[in-house]
Amino acid sequence: MPAGPYPLLAVLAVVAVLVAGAVLAVVRIRRLEARIRGALAAERRRATYYRMSAENARDGLVIHDTNLTILWANPAYLRMMGQPAEKVIGHTPLDFAFPPGEAPRKEDVIATLRAAAESGREALHIFRNTRGDGTQFWNQINFGFQSDEKGESHVVLVCRDVTRAVEQEEDVRRIRDRLEHEARHDGLTGAANRTEFLRFTREVLEGGTRTGQRVALLHIDLDRFKDINDTHGHSAGDAALIHAARELKGAVRRSDMVARVGGDEFVVVCPGVPDLATLERLARGLAAAIARPFRFNDMNLYTRASFGCALSTLGETDPQALLLQSDFALYEAKHAGRSRVTVYDEGLHQRHIRMQRRATDLRDAVETGGLDHVFQPVVELSTGRIAGFETLVRWHHETEGIISPADFLPMAEDLGLLATLDLLSMEAALSMKRRLGAAGYGQTVLSFNASSDLLRHPSFINRLVFGAEAAGMDRSQIAIEVLETTVFTDQDERDSPARIIRDLRDAGFHVYLDDFGMGYAGLAHLAELAITGIKLDQLLVKRMLTNETSAKIVATIIELCRDLGLRMIAEGVEDATTAQRLRQMGCPLIQGYWLSPPVSGDNAMAFVTGHNGTIALPRSRRRLSAV
Ligand code: C2E
Ligand code: CA
Ligand code: CA
Repeated sequence: MPAGPYPLLAVLAVVAVLVAGAVLAVVRIRRLEARIRGALAAERRRATYYRMSAENARDGLVIHDTNLTILWANPAYLRMMGQPAEKVIGHTPLDFAFPPGEAPRKEDVIATLRAAAESGREALHIFRNTRGDGTQFWNQINFGFQSDEKGESHVVLVCRDVTRAVEQEEDVRRIRDRLEHEARHDGLTGAANRTEFLRFTREVLEGGTRTGQRVALLHIDLDRFKDINDTHGHSAGDAALIHAARELKGAVRRSDMVARVGGDEFVVVCPGVPDLATLERLARGLAAAIARPFRFNDMNLYTRASFGCALSTLGETDPQALLLQSDFALYEAKHAGRSRVTVYDEGLHQRHIRMQRRATDLRDAVETGGLDHVFQPVVELSTGRIAGFETLVRWHHETEGIISPADFLPMAEDLGLLATLDLLSMEAALSMKRRLGAAGYGQTVLSFNASSDLLRHPSFINRLVFGAEAAGMDRSQIAIEVLETTVFTDQDERDSPARIIRDLRDAGFHVYLDDFGMGYAGLAHLAELAITGIKLDQLLVKRMLTNETSAKIVATIIELCRDLGLRMIAEGVEDATTAQRLRQMGCPLIQGYWLSPPVSGDNAMAFVTGHNGTIALPRSRRRLSAV
């Protein structure tokens, strides 16, 4: 075998190169292996972190495909839903997450997801969800999109139970709604209040102007509401109001409004009432509903109401005009005897205009002293002596002639003119008293009628005292006549009529209780009030001859007055028979047409001087002539 140093060296060199190459390769492989191991470890760590966070997250995490099938869910989600994994994985949330009937449609959800995916935005929704045990909670879901390595889209949901936050928000909203409701409604009956009524009426009037629909306004006042309060107490009054509001609400359409605008006053506003006949039918229906009985303390109670109704004219957008009309109609209904329905029609409109003119004229007459006063004599039955005169107001209207006090006094009261009017009557009485005194008839008692407005008038007593003093009159020769209704107030009130009556009596004046024996007729008043006399009601006097009970009542009152030392005047004596009967019963004083109607100041003077202070009382049925 050929051998030499070079071939061997060459071989050795080659071997050495090969060995070195192999060693290098091994080193590289080792390094590569180490790098791969490192990368795998890092990947494992990352996966562990992902798993740790997914398993320990408080939020529910879910991955589902675009067909809503759940591929994966974390334990928090399973806990939140109260479902085992097998009920969740492979299913869609629509199968188990929603209360019965509340699950959205699958197509809608997919469409929403697609729209969100296209816009590239994340979306946040709050759903009411149900757990496996049926309890419900509010689930706030945040979803985004993720594509996997194959490019397939997945939906990633992050779910959070936000029930407490939602409930707190609901509480806040509920409180806000309640406050808003309270600001617009009456707390007792739940009916709308005045502010809300005005807002609604304005709104429907404006709407009606656009659509050509008229709006009806029914103004309702419960009759004798005070009686319910007085007889059965305030909770019965409340029950009556609640009953009325409920009946009204039950009888009108949802588009109508029932409002309580005063103590016992309601209004109903109905858009789209075509004519007055429909309006009247509607009102009668409501009146019948209110007239149904209501329960209170195991009793059936009843209440009725007066209705004033008006219908808007097209183009009218101010509720005030309509309110004024329904108000006037209500006033008419109440004065025509209550429990009535009055519709503001053409006739009433004419009357309204007349009354408005009358109101202006009355103000004018009161303020410029344009009223007259007449005087009706009071005579002592046993002697015929003219013991006094009652002062009565008269209004001669330019175009309407004489208007009776019964007609214009309520108007004067509404206009706030009654106290001024009464002060004029007081002045007339004082001046008549001066005339009689000057003519030598100083012992004639002059009386005038005092409303509660006068009694409460701050300068009334001062003016009365001053007027009497200036003329040197004896205060016991002046009498103030007050109605029982006037004194039906809280006696402890500082300026209550009862208190002022006591002051008047203490100052030495006479105070008569007018129209005694009918109406309120409280015998207790005789003891409670500081009155010095009574005027027996005309009706009782009239019935006395035909009705034995009335006669007995009159006899009893006469006796009682005598025992109590009260003056007593029988009013409305129209014939000798009545006068005779009263005399037999011991009635001391009478007043009435039989003696004289109320007459002018001059005629009153002539009546006294003509009879020289005392008239011979005839026993016949013949009427006495006035003068
Ligand atoms: P009143 O105080 O009971 O006055 C008696 C009323 O009966 C008067 O009516 C009088 O004209 C009428 N009268 C008198 N005698 C008879 C009779 O024999 N038969 C009948 N049927 N009637 C008779 P008048 O003047 O219309 O007054 C009505 C009411 O108006 C008065 O009733 C009184 O309550 C009130 N009034 C009158 N003047 C005033 C006033 O100046 N101030 C106040 N606040 N009220 C007044
Ligand atoms: Ca009177
Ligand atoms: Ca009277």
